[in-house]
Amino acid sequence: MDYSKLIDLHTHSSFSPDAEDSLERMVERAAALGLAAYAVTDHCDCNYWYPAESCCGGEKPKDIEMYGAGQYAFESIAAQSRIKEKLAGKVNFLCGIELGQPLQDIDNAEKAASDKRLDFIIGSHHQNKGQEDFYFLEYDKMTLDEIYSLMDKYFSEMLEMCRWGKFDVLGHLTYPLRYIEGDYGINLDLSRYEEIIREIFRTLIQSGKGIEINTSGLRQKYGKTFPTLEYVRLYRELGGEIITIGSDAHHICDVAAGVGDGVEIAKAAGFGYLTYFKERKPQFIKM
Ligand SMILES: [Zn+2]
Ligand SMILES: [Zn+2]
Repeated sequence: MDYSKLIDLHTHSSFSPDAEDSLERMVERAAALGLAAYAVTDHCDCNYWYPAESCCGGEKPKDIEMYGAGQYAFESIAAQSRIKEKLAGKVNFLCGIELGQPLQDIDNAEKAASDKRLDFIIGSHHQNKGQEDFYFLEYDKMTLDEIYSLMDKYFSEMLEMCRWGKFDVLGHLTYPLRYIEGDYGINLDLSRYEEIIREIFRTLIQSGKGIEINTSGLRQKYGKTFPTLEYVRLYRELGGEIITIGSDAHHICDVAAGVGDGVEIAKAAGFGYLTYFKERKPQFIKM
């Protein structure tokens, strides 16, 4: 496969507690593949900004085991900056983070989002306010109404996050379906969210922000991208121009996994260009 026109702008190194391979190895892999642009986007979850032991009076939330304390992302940023200098010219490496739940601690979010070393920020919503990550919820113990009410909150909190907007692309829209539909086999009717999804897209478009096609679902039970073609097309039809592709790799073997399929989805949705970011400014690559 020729990777020279492909990008992977969503990956995790061992600075994320749920990933194993070192930053060096991840970047070496991207360089060996010859990707046109590559980003590491370690977790920076704004609602977990403390050493784990001091959280919640000593009770460690499970999400911390998954993401670590948000401020650890600065160690990743520092290491990424060093690698970027070392590899200048060899790989088009972008210094990034995945900023989780910015509105659940706005001061932390502002601090992270204003870090001048960053080329690229993904804005992600992994958990509703006061609840655990969608990964941990037990959907077989809920009524369908309860699941829909979770999704109502998911979309409305995400819309608020987009109105805040201090990131470059919205990460993995429809993320909870990885678990609800993929793992638990519960099919939801998303048509009731059509209007709020349109509003999310209009908000992003007005402020020059993009969405990502996250290909992780293709290698999971869900079997589709986050979001699917239908929504990528809707974003395009509403005037969206900024589309990135990310594998959400947590291991070197998944770097660039599915990004070719992501390109096909972008093309089918009517995009002629992929986007990556340098110093938070969009750069375009013809597909
Ligand atoms: Zn994420
Ligand atoms: Zn991620």
